[in-house]
Amino acid sequence: MNLIDKFGGDHFIDGEWVTARGNGTFDSVNPATGETLRQLTRGGRAEIDAAVASSWRCFDNEWSRLGAGERGELLYRWANLMAEHLEEIALLDTLDSGKPIRDSRGSAQRGIKMLKFFAGLTDKLLGRQIPVAENLLNYTLHEPYGVVGAITPWNYPTTNFLTKVAPALACGNTIVVKPAEQTPLSALRLAELAVEAGLPKGTVNVVNGFGQEAGQALVAHPDVPKITFTGSTATGLHLTHATEGRVKSFTLELGGKTANVVFADSDLDAAVKAAAYTCFMNQGQTCTAGTRLLLEDTIADVFLERLLAYVKTLKVGDPLKEDTQIGAIVSASQFERIAGFVAGAKQEGAVLLCGGEPLAPAGCERGYFMAPTIFDRVTPGMKIFQQEIFGPVLSVVRFRDFGEAVDLANRTEYGLATTVWTHNLQKAHRFVQQAKSGIVWVNTVHMLHPASPYGGYKQSGLGTEMGVEIAHEYMRHKSAWIQLDTWKSPWQ
Ligand code: ADP
Repeated sequence: MNLIDKFGGDHFIDGEWVTARGNGTFDSVNPATGETLRQLTRGGRAEIDAAVASSWRCFDNEWSRLGAGERGELLYRWANLMAEHLEEIALLDTLDSGKPIRDSRGSAQRGIKMLKFFAGLTDKLLGRQIPVAENLLNYTLHEPYGVVGAITPWNYPTTNFLTKVAPALACGNTIVVKPAEQTPLSALRLAELAVEAGLPKGTVNVVNGFGQEAGQALVAHPDVPKITFTGSTATGLHLTHATEGRVKSFTLELGGKTANVVFADSDLDAAVKAAAYTCFMNQGQTCTAGTRLLLEDTIADVFLERLLAYVKTLKVGDPLKEDTQIGAIVSASQFERIAGFVAGAKQEGAVLLCGGEPLAPAGCERGYFMAPTIFDRVTPGMKIFQQEIFGPVLSVVRFRDFGEAVDLANRTEYGLATTVWTHNLQKAHRFVQQAKSGIVWVNTVHMLHPASPYGGYKQSGLGTEMGVEIAHEYMRHKSAWIQLDTWKSPWQ
């Protein structure tokens, strides 16, 4: 029996496998081969209701009654159990998403690291005593919301799941997760492992299904006061209006269009490799992918020559092969979307330097593979400069000086990350100051750490993930006022 056949259902609610009734089914497809991995029943309002009720029961009767340190110990045990099952979790993600297996291992390891960081944070989320007056004691209590609703995308199934679950639980909440319909599998196994690790049933519930059904039911549920979402800006914006008349707290991690800015005085060897890695890694399906390469015009031609030579060496192919660097696009519809952007860029006058066509690697002839694609002579008015493609498509723009580089880098509606390459200290720090994005990388790319906040400016999001700042996302702050003398009315 393979690892997916071992699943006892399509949803994991109150510590049990559940099969939904009434909404029909959807297929989890391996995008590298086109084969169906599992047909799942679609979760809807009934499953969301059951999951929310279970999470509240768990919160009221068990999770909130544990000491913060005890919760931390359970999270740590879960992390260790995941580490024992790392290969299995990585394989589920690779089969479900088309991600190269070594990337899936890396993502699972990052997820485990995240859980361990937040396990250690549970008893360090401290309130304050505020000196408001000599005869008044004022202090703050940080309190969990209760049940958090999480909606995740398909690009990093395990990491996205744990980026929501770990901080929400560390802050004392329980959680209901609706994973992306393209990648429903690893979340189920992770939730099952949570129970095996000793987390009370209902701490983590998983309902699979479509956004408009299960996702919508979760967002609108009257007993879910907090929603955390990662996905497209359009969907995130929609969700804030889809609460059916209720005020809710939202954490939104949305789209990006990272500029990767290379000045002439940088380490060009490193910058060439980074330009390829940041855009083509995970098939370009990363919110922070450096999809806009801004080159100082004095080095642009030589840089592109070296970049094209390097890109030719990249291995696109079967995601299960250990040496594959670029795997499959997640789905047929995402592949079509990318192909649409490529066609549009040609029409708008961008110059195709490489790629732009589908590939059919050996053993994966029916999968969705796209060659790494580079367009030169892109201008800020073009769609590929402005819009998030979520595919391996790089747009190249040349600039003359620092001011123009900053202007181009900031000239989209997104503001998630910016990268800059220079050996000039002042230029680097000035760029950090002037970049309108939540993350700036200098002479490096894609650095993340659970202790460092991650969140977007402008249309890239609301709030932060990771870092001690998450106490403001997953907890409410109560202000307590204690009068230390007899109260005197101002009216006397
Ligand atoms: P994509 O278009 O790349 O799939 P989305 O942002 O639409 O990205 O999807 C991210 C997550 O949001 C998925 O889990 C999806 O099911 C969910 N989702 C999509 N539409 C809605 C919706 N109307 N309500 C709730 N969740 C949604």
